[in-house]
Amino acid sequence: MKKTASFSRVVTAPTNGAAGVIPAVLMYCICFCENKGDDKVHKFLLTAGEIASLFKKGSTISAAMGGCQAEIGVSSAMAAAALTACLDGTSKQVMMAAEIAMEHHLGLTCDPIKGLVQIPCIERNTMGAIKAITACEIALSSDPKNAKVSLDNVIQTMRDTALDMKDKYKETAEGGLAVHVSVNFPEC
Ligand code: SF4
Repeated sequence: MKKTASFSRVVTAPTNGAAGVIPAVLMYCICFCENKGDDKVHKFLLTAGEIASLFKKGSTISAAMGGCQAEIGVSSAMAAAALTACLDGTSKQVMMAAEIAMEHHLGLTCDPIKGLVQIPCIERNTMGAIKAITACEIALSSDPKNAKVSLDNVIQTMRDTALDMKDKYKETAEGGLAVHVSVNFPEC
């Protein structure tokens, strides 16, 4: 948890820039998933936190180390697993959902225009949420015994990809959209 400039609190999930995915998917779970009991919020957040710790221990949750795959990718994996748990998926389906969500964020660079966490970050949070819900649906309709890629595989792959990624794609605003798009932001 961090203090913002206005002294309000925001919850990092796993980081500030990617903190929109978890609440978006949690809200989806609360509004559209029926009959899942009062412990839904606890189960969602505890599952999401556990998945984040696997990525933190086995790879990274820092864009400065791994690019946006470590932020939006991890938050999407957290949300996918959490939603699957709340929809009574098995523990293997929960991990499968996390794997699917991360698999489709591998290699995502961090390239915020002007170094501000606005473009592409805001829309990336929405995309991370959509991918999390889709990953959950795929996992719930699948048999994990048939999975070709494990969560361990994807965490290791993300780590190796992070090590190979150039620094200009790691939150430096020196590559990607940050150098190809010019945007004038109004003074606050
Ligand atoms: S582009 Fe960079 S700053 Fe923006 S959400 Fe992704 S990791 Fe965070």
